[in-house]
Amino acid sequence: MTNFKDKVVWITGASSGIGEALAMAFAKEGAKLVLTARRREELERVKQQTALPAANVLVLPLDVTQLDQAQPAADQVIAHFGHIDIMVHNAGVSQRSYINDTDLEVYQSLMNVNFFSTVAITKAVLPHMIARKSGHFIVMSSVAGKIGTIMRSGYNAAKHALQGFYDSLRAEGYQHNIKVTTICPGYIRTNISLNALDAAGDKFGKMDSNQATGIPADVCAQKILNAVKTDKKEIYIGGFKEVAAIYLKRFFPSLLFDQVRKNIPE
Ligand code: NDP
Repeated sequence: MTNFKDKVVWITGASSGIGEALAMAFAKEGAKLVLTARRREELERVKQQTALPAANVLVLPLDVTQLDQAQPAADQVIAHFGHIDIMVHNAGVSQRSYINDTDLEVYQSLMNVNFFSTVAITKAVLPHMIARKSGHFIVMSSVAGKIGTIMRSGYNAAKHALQGFYDSLRAEGYQHNIKVTTICPGYIRTNISLNALDAAGDKFGKMDSNQATGIPADVCAQKILNAVKTDKKEIYIGGFKEVAAIYLKRFFPSLLFDQVRKNIPE
């Protein structure tokens, strides 16, 4: 896909952070947007901020963990714009708690929001994309989709699950011209650590220093658009340390495991 003019782009987690930055970046290129998250007022704010004609933005509030709402939501998007060109699975919640302390329900919640929600929405939009012989999924994984780290066990598991599922979709979708670009960011400057779940499922509520000094969300968004334009299957976006860690695990896994063990979060 070389340009996004009039392309219909559905973004989950569009009310803040990387999702908001993606909405702005796609808007600048003349895309039509569907903005999804739980907070309607924040989605309306993002809609205003894009300065797109009102008819070109559909605000579609949805708690993506309500898996039975995925199909009605997809039907609403198709009824409104006629089709979907790009599905951006971006909504996500991180974790800050040790395995030994963490309630089982917290794991279920992390898997629902980070993984099963994307499966439900993908299954709702895929038949439509196959019928059109066109569609592109942008999947927000993470360096956490490649490496398991301390206090992120459920988040890491969900992001690893995304990697496997969407590698399969890329392979199965090829014959139907369905594409998948998987994004593995390192530290991006957003509220993700504030919104992360603690051992009891409450908000962690603290800004990590790694996040505070991370790459700006608009820089991350622009790299994602460039990856889709050049049809990349997977990209890494981050500082030297995070990207090097992915290669270290691939070529010298024991060294990486030793480093991760010593990297105790603040
Ligand atoms: P934010 O916390 O700023 O954004 C998370 C977004 O997800 C919000 O728009 C939130 O909206 C939405 N969301 C959360 N739960 C739900 C739900 N149940 N239903 C619908 N929407 C929901 O964090 P980021 O922008 O950083 O995160 C975006 C994605 O990027 C995530 O998938 C994250 O894992 C990934 N990522 C982020 C990194 C970083 O360093 N920031 C690094 C690697 C990956 P609302 O609260 O309105 O529902």
